[in-house]
Amino acid sequence: METNYFLELRNFLEKLPGVGPRQAARYVWAFLDFSKKDREKLADLLQNLDKNLRRCRECFRAFMGGGEVCGFCLPTSRREHQKIMVLERDSDLLNMEKSGVYKGLYHVLGGVIDPTDENAVARERIKALYERVNLDVGRPTSLEIILALPTTKLGEFTASYVEKVLEPLAIKSKKIKISRLARGLSTGVELEYADEMTLKQAMQNRK
Ligand SMILES: [Zn+2]
Repeated sequence: METNYFLELRNFLEKLPGVGPRQAARYVWAFLDFSKKDREKLADLLQNLDKNLRRCRECFRAFMGGGEVCGFCLPTSRREHQKIMVLERDSDLLNMEKSGVYKGLYHVLGGVIDPTDENAVARERIKALYERVNLDVGRPTSLEIILALPTTKLGEFTASYVEKVLEPLAIKSKKIKISRLARGLSTGVELEYADEMTLKQAMQNRK
């Protein structure tokens, strides 16, 4: 029973990005050293997560406040609605926002896809991206989809997959363009950690 408890909690923590079994075990022991009050506070915060933070129905970014659509996606927002940047995570989006080089909309995949994993969240969100872009096919305004996925193997696989999914729409409408951020980001560098200068160059040199 005891070992089961430990494994169960460790397995949960392993679902966090970048956390392997060893790191997850360290977190379990760290929680043990929290005060009872802090553990209760953490449990309480987690319990109330979806009351305070939600994912936008359109772009899937996490946002605070009411409604189903975030402030960026509202038709009345001052964002450039003819650009959609496809990113892996909210942390990439935050870094992009901090740099100030981009004023368009986003689409957060929540991960990259793995050729062997059929049920990934990211696959569902790519489907949603298709639907989102499809709505624009008949419109006279142009739409650019900018792929800003990691330069890792799976990131590249995911970018190609998204291109393949959107290609029929780009063929149907000359107004729809798909581009990729320039590889000013060196291999393996994640968007989350790229500095402002690198992001600016990557945006300017996108293809
Ligand atoms: Zn949104």
